[in-house]
Amino acid sequence: MSRPVRLAINGASGRMGQALLGLLKEDPAFRLDYAVVAPGSESDGASVFPGPSDALRYAHDWSQAPALDVVVDFSGPEALAAALDYCLANGTALVTGTTGIDSALEARLEGACEHIAVLRAANFSLGVTMLTRLLREAAAAFPAWDLEIVEAHHGHKQDAPSGTALALGHAAAAARNIDLATAAVYSREGRPGERVDGSIGFAVVRGGDIVGEHHALLIGKGERIELSHRATDRSVFARGALQAAQWLHGRSAGSWQLDDVL
Ligand code: NAD
Repeated sequence: MSRPVRLAINGASGRMGQALLGLLKEDPAFRLDYAVVAPGSESDGASVFPGPSDALRYAHDWSQAPALDVVVDFSGPEALAAALDYCLANGTALVTGTTGIDSALEARLEGACEHIAVLRAANFSLGVTMLTRLLREAAAAFPAWDLEIVEAHHGHKQDAPSGTALALGHAAAAARNIDLATAAVYSREGRPGERVDGSIGFAVVRGGDIVGEHHALLIGKGERIELSHRATDRSVFARGALQAAQWLHGRSAGSWQLDDVL
């Protein structure tokens, strides 16, 4: 049997970091060797898995990190930049889900792909990855069918439509060789007039504790296809990231996608 993947979690005290630690505790495929939090964080220096073998402690300093196979990052732009420095200096693969990255860091990440294996995703659910693949195929096969994308999330969500709904729109538009910027219709109110052929409509639902739902409706004459994904637990993102980390371990340098993992 191959040895466990030597892993670091960047952003280990955060919501995603804690979800990852919860899964890693019971997964023999990985060995967690480093857990990075923000300097000055309450967790810094505390035991990661309190108990008889509490050797691993949260840290903030990449210069102290041991040799690693993969860094899994769900943190923030500044923390991601520090992890990227470590990965480049040590030839370590990087899985990252951090969002809100500026163009300078985007460019650095792109450049890094020439030297190390990098896998990025705005949504680490493997189910959404498959939904995107199915939508791409259906949108290309029926270019004249009307396409509407409906998403639903809990009431605390700040942005709309969700990044995932937009990514679905981009994927469908690319499959039809059209530009989402001109095809998208984000709101209908009053008398918006007839639906424009080739447009892609978005609708948004907000309420309660909905983790995340995405529905793509392809509507033809006398029939329609409904492709739906419902996330019922945030751990899907952590599970997808760990599957990605296992897959990325030992890959050559390059920009990899979750779709490659499928
Ligand atoms: P969070 O705020 O709960 O956690 C952030 C973590 O980053 C904390 O551990 C914090 O200590 C650490 N951190 C912050 N600044 C740091 C620094 N300068 N150096 C080192 N560590 C630092 O956030 P979260 O909900 O876990 O999300 C983290 C990121 O992941 C966000 O960008 C979020 O949008 C993204 N996210 C992506 C997906 C996906 O599927 N791609 C899913 C959920 C969240």
